[in-house]
Amino acid sequence: MYNILDFTLEELQSWMKENGESAFRAKQVFSWIYKDVWNFDDMKNIPGTLKEKLKENFNIEIPKIVEVYESNVDDTKKMLLSMKDNNLIECVLMKYKHGNSICVSTQVGCRMGCKFCASTIGGRIRDLSAGEILSEIMVAQKFLGERISNVVLMGSGEPLDNYDNVVKFLNLANAEYGLNIGQRHITLSTCGIVPKIKELADLNLSITLAISLHAFSDEKRKTIMPIANKYSINEILEACRYYMDKTGRRITYEYSLVSGVNDGKEDAKSLAKLLKNMSCHVNLIPVNEIKENELKRPSRKTIEAFEEILKSQGIEVTVRREMGTDINAACGQLRRSYLDTQK
Ligand code: SAH
Repeated sequence: MYNILDFTLEELQSWMKENGESAFRAKQVFSWIYKDVWNFDDMKNIPGTLKEKLKENFNIEIPKIVEVYESNVDDTKKMLLSMKDNNLIECVLMKYKHGNSICVSTQVGCRMGCKFCASTIGGRIRDLSAGEILSEIMVAQKFLGERISNVVLMGSGEPLDNYDNVVKFLNLANAEYGLNIGQRHITLSTCGIVPKIKELADLNLSITLAISLHAFSDEKRKTIMPIANKYSINEILEACRYYMDKTGRRITYEYSLVSGVNDGKEDAKSLAKLLKNMSCHVNLIPVNEIKENELKRPSRKTIEAFEEILKSQGIEVTVRREMGTDINAACGQLRRSYLDTQK
């Protein structure tokens, strides 16, 4: 059985032809699915014989909503979803003036081992397929009853550790016959897998690339991100320059501020120096505290001082607005706490 959501239009057209059907049926089937009709029997203009064939060969794999947590401080909603094999994943919905945004997971768990991150605690269970990542948006859109126009790949998982599926997902999300989400409205965040950044650059997409930097030196980065043992900051920045040259897109650097670890004035100055000649944007994320470790969020004063130093050096910087702090909205926190309650 295939998950039909893993198919592009071209792939479904080929399947139709190989199975003695007209290619145009593919578009008809997709137009139902992307209108939230998730049952072949309800597709009115599809002949009965084709419906039977479709049912024999395809599932329409929409995750089950296990739970929805709605924040009392803002419009953030967090969804816990159950996949076909009962694995749990989570996604976060955020309402902005410019539209609805979703933060999707790309793997069940993660194997990157970043110290502050809850997603990585049980390791990587498995990759999500392109269609499964897409289905997070579909189920959320149906739940909201509103269109989702922005996607960030910042949920659980390392997108570039699931490269082929993620690239296929980017194509599916962008497809006109499907969700039709503009590439400029998609951000992919990575801990910095250098060869894959270059491969992605060669695709010439207009998506925004975000790099989880979190430290100005390799030495310090290694203490919080194991991937730093594999790729140096210099190699990452070189790959970023390549990405900018190829795509013309400015890069975002994420910097999670952890008290006493990377939040000092010297850290800010060195970071500014490092990024001085890069056309970039720095996103400061005061660390979301999780109960599995001791890492603490810096005081507001420290955060502001850090921001000021970057600004004074001409670096464009924003502090990530805290959203849904009352509902465990940080990466992987929800799945973890749910799994804990099931033990
Ligand atoms: N694997 C991708 C996506 C991760 S989530 C990556 O590494 O970029 C998006 C961002 O949130 C990353 O920058 C990640 O390092 C950061 N992050 C994860 N857990 C966090 C926490 N508890 N507090 C603050 N930032 C966190």
